[in-house]
Amino acid sequence: EAKSGGPNRHCAFETAMQDKVTERASLEAKLRLAIQEKAICTHYQPLINLRTGAICGFEALARWTDSQGVFIPPPVFIAIAEETGLITELFENLLAQACGDALAWPEDIILSFNVSPVQMEDRLLASRILRILDATKLPARRLEIEITENALIQDPVDAARILDELTQAGVQVALDDFGTGYSSLSQLARYRFDKIKIDKSFISTYQNDERQDKIVRAMLGLGRSLNIKTTAEGIEEHGQLSHLLLLGCDIGQGYIFGKAMPAEQALDFINDRREVLTASA
Ligand code: C2E
Ligand code: MG
Ligand code: MG
Ligand code: MG
Repeated sequence: EAKSGGPNRHCAFETAMQDKVTERASLEAKLRLAIQEKAICTHYQPLINLRTGAICGFEALARWTDSQGVFIPPPVFIAIAEETGLITELFENLLAQACGDALAWPEDIILSFNVSPVQMEDRLLASRILRILDATKLPARRLEIEITENALIQDPVDAARILDELTQAGVQVALDDFGTGYSSLSQLARYRFDKIKIDKSFISTYQNDERQDKIVRAMLGLGRSLNIKTTAEGIEEHGQLSHLLLLGCDIGQGYIFGKAMPAEQALDFINDRREVLTASA
């Protein structure tokens, strides 16, 4: 078996590798073009104040459907953008667009925007962000950036400088995907985050799992004692929602409230929700 399977398998492996390389190269070329043509946009997923039911923000999520109508998942093209250095251009385009969209929202609704770990190595990151705020006239306090724990490991000194500069300008900082990266707790000691976002992997599974539930409680307790607001990602069911509310989680995000939607739909969402809230008040 080894005799006949060996060389063939080797051959198949090489072909598969070659296919992967070709596919990757063509995706990279398509991405370059898509960024140039501004074919990638952001959709907005509501962030809900769990106590009042009001919208407190929207998270901007990048969306790309290629010219053949194929949806490319963000983690796929963001990774390529990071590796090729295209991330800066993509980020600047999307952030400017999102700030413009956010201007149409009521003052108390913030824009939350993801910053990839690779971008934390860019010494100009803070000034890039502040320049875009300046150009679009979105007040700094209405912008929140989301960074993951992994973004802070590389070069803590530079990261601290970037976060300081942003924080001093009034931009808020959220720790995204909390609990899934490295050294979460040391990061919490080092930086003053405005928000902790508990990763959806904890939310989707904790309900029938006592240990997971205790972890969620501990994370919420940590936020409370450090005076940091907590967000739960990935809430899909009413059971999860009422449980999180009971545990004192501040903000909720998930399909139960709404998926990421185009800018016009986000405006409708704001108006519909206002009506619901006033009707129930
Ligand atoms: P993230 O920042 O943790 O964003 C939350 C992800 O969870 C989004 O996936 C969102 O659609 C998904 N999600 C929200 N609620 C639910 C739910 O109830 N159930 C389930 N199953 N999923 C839910 P998405 O849009 O596919 O983005 C994936 C990741 O890609 C993001 O994770 C973020 O790390 C990255 N990403 C997206 N847009 C950007 C961007 O503009 N810049 C950067 N640097 N990264 C981005
Ligand atoms: Mg995020
Ligand atoms: Mg997240
Ligand atoms: Mg996540």
